[in-house]
Amino acid sequence: MYCKKVIIKDDDVDARDQRDPSICLKWLTNLTLEKDIKVTYGVIVGNETFCDNMELVDYLNSLDKTHFEIATHGYTHEHFKGMPYDEQYSRIENATKTIENYLHVRSYTFITPGSNDDANTSKVCEALGYHSFSSGRAYPNDNIVDFKIDACLEYNWSQSPPEHCSFNSLKNNFDDFYNSTDEYYVICMHHNTFWYENKTTLNQTRVNNFEDFIDYVKTKNVEFMTIEDAYEWEVDKDRIIHNQTKNSYIIDFGRCEYNHTVKFTSPENYQGKKIVVLDATTNNVIGKYDANYFEFTGVKGHRYEINVEKESEINDNLQYWVIVAGVVVMLGIVGIYYKRQKKIDR
Ligand SMILES: [Zn+2]
Repeated sequence: MYCKKVIIKDDDVDARDQRDPSICLKWLTNLTLEKDIKVTYGVIVGNETFCDNMELVDYLNSLDKTHFEIATHGYTHEHFKGMPYDEQYSRIENATKTIENYLHVRSYTFITPGSNDDANTSKVCEALGYHSFSSGRAYPNDNIVDFKIDACLEYNWSQSPPEHCSFNSLKNNFDDFYNSTDEYYVICMHHNTFWYENKTTLNQTRVNNFEDFIDYVKTKNVEFMTIEDAYEWEVDKDRIIHNQTKNSYIIDFGRCEYNHTVKFTSPENYQGKKIVVLDATTNNVIGKYDANYFEFTGVKGHRYEINVEKESEINDNLQYWVIVAGVVVMLGIVGIYYKRQKKIDR
């Protein structure tokens, strides 16, 4: 089935001030497992205060990495815009090394604190081997995939904790994405906005609102991914093989590890004709299309042949209907004959 991707990016998992693992972080972790979704955690290492908060270190180390990705979210949540290249480099390098030392993972995703970055930030990330980037704005970089934010759960940061978008505004935003041709949706959130100002109890209204939204998204045909998963899926597109014979287009997903959406625009000689998509791996016709543009799902491992429907198939169909119509006419004549016989018999 055609499948869109949803990424939840949760920022400010914070080693400073003994704030995390907070009840909010534990709630989000449990929710992720319970709903069988995935989350990318943006971690602030904070002047190597990781060693002062071994509870957080142990907590992050215990997470099931098939559901949770650890991403770098700055060293001390600094704003990078305008900072000299060398300073950006040393801060991001320190953050990367600290995560490696304490969490035993190499992070390949950089999430800019406050979306406050410039062209140097993505250059530094590239130099440090990062391959994914997430920010509110984007600086083009051929070697880093940019996962731009589509929706933010919180707004009005002058309040503490900031307000949350309503279920309806989140739903409308998601519906717009779902009805578009976009393939993935990045929602940004901050777990530590789910408690009251006293920081001891969860705000149940907010919890319910967010859980309702997740349940709504899950009713749609979507797949939850971490940013790292989404990167792998993006790279997997390069494994698709395209070929052309005299009459067919061939798209081969034999080397792919993910399914992909095929967006087919008819060449000129196909236009106005009925187009047949054959799954050559199973030998099943998976669709016939009248439109000059259509989409279908390419399943990993499968090969597809796209052709204009053959004249003979149409003729075969026509012959079939002639026979069917003939049989119906004959039955009708027989019926009338019997009715007349009955009348005569009486
Ligand atoms: Zn942040």
